[in-house]
Amino acid sequence: MGVPISQMWTVASYVLGKKLRGVQRYPIVLMLEPLFRCNLACAGCGKIQYPSDILKQNMPVDKALAAVDECGAPIVSIPGGEPLLHPQIHEIVEGIVARKKYVYLCTNAILLEKHLHRFKPSKYLSFSVHVDGLREEHDEAVCRDGVYDVAIAGVKAAIEQGFRVTTNTTLFDNADPVRYRAFFDAMTDLGVEGMMISPGYSYEKAPDQDHFLKRETTKNIFRRLLDNPDRRWRFNQSPLFLEFLKGDWDLTCTPWGNPTYNVFGWQKPCYLLQEGYTETFQELLETTEWDNYGIQSGNSNCQDCMVHCGHEPTAVDQTFGSLRGFVRTAQLTLFGAPRRNDRTPPPPPEKTIPAPHRQPQELVQLEASSR
Ligand code: SF4
Ligand code: SF4
Repeated sequence: MGVPISQMWTVASYVLGKKLRGVQRYPIVLMLEPLFRCNLACAGCGKIQYPSDILKQNMPVDKALAAVDECGAPIVSIPGGEPLLHPQIHEIVEGIVARKKYVYLCTNAILLEKHLHRFKPSKYLSFSVHVDGLREEHDEAVCRDGVYDVAIAGVKAAIEQGFRVTTNTTLFDNADPVRYRAFFDAMTDLGVEGMMISPGYSYEKAPDQDHFLKRETTKNIFRRLLDNPDRRWRFNQSPLFLEFLKGDWDLTCTPWGNPTYNVFGWQKPCYLLQEGYTETFQELLETTEWDNYGIQSGNSNCQDCMVHCGHEPTAVDQTFGSLRGFVRTAQLTLFGAPRRNDRTPPPPPEKTIPAPHRQPQELVQLEASSR
């Protein structure tokens, strides 16, 4: 299991409480983006393409914590940008931990080792380190040589100092399942608590538009990746979501389960699409036309999306809110997924290299100035 029992219990009791009160739409994970600037410029990233006046902004601590309070989700994920570039990120994290909410601080870990002293180990705090595969794949994905080694050094230092550490990995259509299975072994050997994997979303703004996954390709890759898994692997994701990625379980999107708050406000409708902002979470819930999203809506932006935000909350809702979902989750947790020898494997992916992508000088300077 890639999630501690206390965290599972907190989420389960929260979901059951909402169900008992008949609440239809509720958040499970708040995506809190306290800034957009980053010290990397990955080819598949759709989050950092803003003018410099936006990239320079840091969300004030009181606004961040007010969003946490208003939302009420038991888990807060802090992506970015690179959150460690925020001068008060430790205060934001402290405030969330003080509220007894579980926080995942997402980081590319370039600055992790140097900034660990800003944080205290806690059962409520995990560093979620962006690692997109073994050294070759990761350095290629982040468009800079040497980043994998720095990230792994950061992971080791954080584990040694008693922090919870997980990894988050985004896959594209050139993912070689054999290499990624070796990557899971490597992260397991390193001692990470759990791994999170997700297909990349086809951001219009991302520099590399050639490697985003289509729905059927996603299922094929994840089957090859997750069929007959090593029993040591731990994923900090719901078993139902992993089954969904393989095409073995249906999930629709519930974007309100993963609301996003950033320097613009509450983002409509989800972490991936930007179709306007509201000032309050309640307004987001009440004014978004939710029926316009998800595969069943016919919305072209959603047809190939199998990303964790939007679908992971549905999996959690089904796990704790339906007998069928609970029983399947219990089976998967106790006995693992059925072993598969009957799948016809798709041809191995062609090894392709993303187009050369240079780091904007301004971002390199930002990183240098933060050292
Ligand atoms: S590490 Fe890469 S993917 Fe993450 S915010 Fe920075 S540029 Fe984007
Ligand atoms: S399917 Fe994906 S893109 Fe569409 S609303 Fe859900 S999370 Fe957003």
